[in-house]
Amino acid sequence: MYIRNKSFLIASWLNDLANIFYPNLCVACGRLLQRPEKSICIYCRHDLPETGFHQYIDNPVHEKFYGRLPLENASSLYYFHKSSRVQHLIHALKYNGEKQIGIELGKLYGRHLKNAPGFSSVQLIIPVPLHKRKLHYRGYNQSELFSKGLSETMQIPYKPELLKRKVFTDTQTHKSRTERWENVKSVFIAMHSGRYAGKHILLVDDVLTTGATLEACANALLEQCRDIRLSIATIACAG
Ligand SMILES: [Zn+2]
Repeated sequence: MYIRNKSFLIASWLNDLANIFYPNLCVACGRLLQRPEKSICIYCRHDLPETGFHQYIDNPVHEKFYGRLPLENASSLYYFHKSSRVQHLIHALKYNGEKQIGIELGKLYGRHLKNAPGFSSVQLIIPVPLHKRKLHYRGYNQSELFSKGLSETMQIPYKPELLKRKVFTDTQTHKSRTERWENVKSVFIAMHSGRYAGKHILLVDDVLTTGATLEACANALLEQCRDIRLSIATIACAG
């Protein structure tokens, strides 16, 4: 017992020492993390701007796709604003290798979606795929990590291998809505489409902006798979 306590104290002391030189900061607000906080501090966990849209079928995210896609429902966990804590969070997930954030947020949203109208009948989760080159450069797909977390708490399988991106598209950041659409409209292909037949699929992405990428993915699934129903979930929505 004494030895175990002693090694615990040494590990704890070394951790505190490491914190002096490499402090663990909350990726959303920059506050110093206290044990056992990981990546996101307790204040941000309770205080980030959740939309609550999953509680309503007619919500602003779903409305964004009216006339574009026949969806069961659509929702986003957070509001996304420039220079906000949510933007810092997404940035850390996409560009700083903070993979755990994607899984944690997925688990959190999965608990919300599990009993939400329009989402409780979901049977399969499919993330928007990254192109191979981007995947190779980043090492992971952030939407896939979010799907993994959703899958854990919703108790529904996620299958990233069922949707593929055919050709490389340039970054979408500085393109107009029409240019974005031209860029992505025919680049997705549904693999093993027989496996989707009759299922309610949840299509998952990181940030919803114009919705062009999600629309292209959804159209590929709707065209290539028989009798499916679709819903959409993203970590955040802009605007
Ligand atoms: Zn924080």
